[in-house]
Parts: sequence; structure tokens; C-alpha cells
Amino acid sequence: MMRDEDDLLAARLQHHRAAGLTQGAPIALPIITATTFHVPDHTKGGYSYARAASPTWDEVEVQLSLLEEAPVVAFPSGMAAISAALMATLSAGKRVILPRDGYYVTRVFGETFLKSFGVQVEYLPTADFEAADFTGVGVVLIETPSNPGLDVCDIAVVAARAHAAGALVIADNTTMTPLLQRPLDLGADLVVAADTKAPAGHSDVLFGHVAGRDADLMARVREWRRLSGAVPGSFEAWLVHRGIETLEVRLSRMCASAGVIAERLLGHPAVLAVRYPGLPGDPSHAVAARQMSGFGFLISFTLRDAVVAEKFLADCPFVAQATSFGSTHTSGERRARWGDAVPEGLIRLSVGCEPVEPLWAAMDAALRG
Ligand SMILES: *Cc1c(COP(=O)(O)O)cnc(C)c1O
Repeated sequence: MMRDEDDLLAARLQHHRAAGLTQGAPIALPIITATTFHVPDHTKGGYSYARAASPTWDEVEVQLSLLEEAPVVAFPSGMAAISAALMATLSAGKRVILPRDGYYVTRVFGETFLKSFGVQVEYLPTADFEAADFTGVGVVLIETPSNPGLDVCDIAVVAARAHAAGALVIADNTTMTPLLQRPLDLGADLVVAADTKAPAGHSDVLFGHVAGRDADLMARVREWRRLSGAVPGSFEAWLVHRGIETLEVRLSRMCASAGVIAERLLGHPAVLAVRYPGLPGDPSHAVAARQMSGFGFLISFTLRDAVVAEKFLADCPFVAQATSFGSTHTSGERRARWGDAVPEGLIRLSVGCEPVEPLWAAMDAALRG
């Protein structure tokens, strides 16, 4: 499923601290909560004050940089990372295009703040980005697969069209992680992601990051963090560091199980529709197979109506009723309850690390009511 390079990357990830260890040093990452550091000579560099840099986030940034194969700036949440990338690239009078069917808080941020700073905020469905006219656009933000509809767009095509029009491309890669999709290799200028989801992976910490290979852009993102003060806490960074050590093994299980469950949902009499990029008949399949090295762990499927969907969620003991996704436990929710423009009976399922047969048996029993 994953590229051979990703296997090597995942192996290196387990040992990234080795080179810096001295005799007797702890193998596991220590949590350093210090906000001020010993600075007898301010001209000599090193840590000074933790709003600029802190040893515990530095370690997560090293891990994330290994994964992204690019410099990374860590943030206290996915939204802190997304807003930083937008604030670093936009200014009054510029146009930004956001996905109409993507993470809704990004749109609310655009409506509430970007517009009030004179940015023109426009929207497109994910499936329409490939053929869009980006003339006069400053920033194009894509999210593929989109969440919760699981439409995809061809990142390389969008990036080429955007660049030809002089626009920058920001890719929200939360649903995939760098182990399943590599937007920077496909031409995106910046990647933003919520490590709150699969990378941390245990539903117990908010975190995010921005990655990019353009030094000037990344310097602006880093400066935004230092000046806005949107800095991660040391304990949160430590939890993410621990989570990332098992990311590859969790993703393997989650994606393999999702493939099995998507096939079985497709053949289930209670299920009206299934979206999963790994299904050969899915509208997203061709592009997904080309640009993703795994099909992910998110499935959306539609039951008859809101009542049937809510009953399934209430009855299935192995599907946690929660928003968010990417955790060790399978979770699901009816997205229309938040006002997403989807059928009333649509459930977004995030497949977790449970062995697949008991998970499916519980789902099947709940579907049969
Ligand atoms: C969850 C999520 C975010 C926001 O992350 P937070 O850590 O909750 O701020 C952004 N984009 C996508 C696609 C997400 O799923």
C-alpha cells in the first residue's frame, strides 16, 4: 500500500533522536516546560524564550519534517496552522478560493476575519478545482479528499493551473497524512494539517502544523506564530511525538479495515450509497489511485433517513458517537446534524484500530436493526 520510501521513512522516524543522544540520556522524549533559558550572551543563539522556540516542540517538528520531507512549523491546533498559512500569504485586496465542501471552520474563519481585512473569499466544490479559472486569484486552498463528501481533486493539475495564474496553493492534508498523500511533491506550496486527527491519534490532544519548502514563505509562517503567540504547549507536543511513533502501524490497520468495510457496506441491503476512494466504482477512485498511496480510513455512507442513521449509531457498540476522526477507536456521526450539505442519513465513519471482523459484525448487526 505505502511507498517503499514511506517504509524507510517510518523506520527512521523511530530513531530520529538517536544522533543527539549522549551517554545516559533518556531514549523517550523528555517534556521540557521551561519558558526561559540560560542566556548569558544573547548573540550566541539557542533557546531564549519559549514563544519563539522550545525544545519539546522542536522534537515534534523534526519528526514532522521527516514525514513531510520539508521544514515544518508546529501549531497548537489544525485551525492555528490553517489561519497562520492564510495570514502569511494573504493581504487586503487579494482573492482566496476555499473548498465549499471542506472543513467548515476554515470557511467561517474566512467569513469572520479574512473578509473584514479586505480579502475576497470565494468558494468552489472540490471536484471543480481542476477546471477552475484562477486568473486574479492569490491563494487556492484545497482539501482532498474533502471532508465529509470524499470528493478528490488532482493536486498536480490544480497546482499547475494555480501557478500559471500566479496563485499559491495551500493543501489541507489532514484526512491523508504525509504517509498516504504528499501534496508538496505534487506542487502545493504549503501543506496544513490537523495532527489532532490520525498523527496524534488518541482523541486527547489538539495540534497542527504547516509544512513547506519555500524558505521565505515558511519564515513568514514562523514569524506569524512568534508574533501572534499561537504556540503549542510542551505536554501537547510530547503527546503528538508519542502518537506519531505508531502512526504508520495504525494507518496500515485503519486503511486495510476501511477497504474491507467499504466493500461490505456497498453490498449491504440497508445502505443506500457509499463513498470511499478505494472502491473501484467510486467517482474519486481514478485520481485517488494516482495521487494517494493508500485510500484512507474515512468512509461516508448513507442510510434511509436521520432516524435510521441515529439508531445505527446508538446501537453499534464499536462505533463511538463523536465528531472528529483518525483515532484508535472507530467513530461515526451523522454530518447533517452540523448543517453539512449532505443527505440526512449520511454517516461519516472513521475506521479505527479494532480488528476488522468484530467491528464489522457489530456494524452489520446494528444495520440490520
Ligand atoms: C479537524 C480538522 C481541522 C481543524 O483541526 P483542529 O485541530 O480541530 O483545529 C482542519 N482541517 C481538517 C480537514 C480537519 O479535519
